[in-house]
Amino acid sequence: MEIAALDLEGVLIPEIWIGFAEKTGIDELKATTRDIPDYNVLMRQRLDLLAQHKLGLPDIQEVIATMAPIEGAVDFINWLKSNFQVIILSDTFYEFSHPLMRQLGFPTLFCHRLIADEKGMIVDYKLRQEDPKRQCVKAFHQLNFRVIAAGDSYNDTTMLSEADAGILFKSPDNVIAEFPQFPAVHTYPELQAQFCSASQRDIVI
Ligand SMILES: [Mg+2]
Repeated sequence: MEIAALDLEGVLIPEIWIGFAEKTGIDELKATTRDIPDYNVLMRQRLDLLAQHKLGLPDIQEVIATMAPIEGAVDFINWLKSNFQVIILSDTFYEFSHPLMRQLGFPTLFCHRLIADEKGMIVDYKLRQEDPKRQCVKAFHQLNFRVIAAGDSYNDTTMLSEADAGILFKSPDNVIAEFPQFPAVHTYPELQAQFCSASQRDIVI
């Protein structure tokens, strides 16, 4: 029995905060953990910026609904779902990703939660647990699943290491260079081929 564990942003959909910054013209929202390494400081800054621009959850979801999955992502996830139990492991927030998950047919998603007040303004956020992607793979193993995982970035590497097979997809060169133990591919057909070869079953593309 095999689970396909997939990262979301950079793998199936664009980076949500960057897309949102581009759509709204709020450039400061493009900051990532590369600019502000402390995630909590970064999130506080994001929430402050949303409040300053008076953007509540409904406004944010309206903007995100104009974003689209990466070309080919819908066909890929449909193929993957027909061959594996698919679970998306992401560091995004349910409320943020909702409009894009709709376009992907609402696959199972384990991520974090935003907390809004009665006016829809985001006042806080709740991370589900520490190192959540790795903890999920460990839990699937305890349930006797084999896990094949794919992701694009640093926050995926503990998941890829914990999995029975890890695949880098659309990763930047520095991540590929730092983690040569994982095969690195850039297109959905290549990723399908990686899942097929990592599987213990005979899967036809
Ligand atoms: Mg990612």
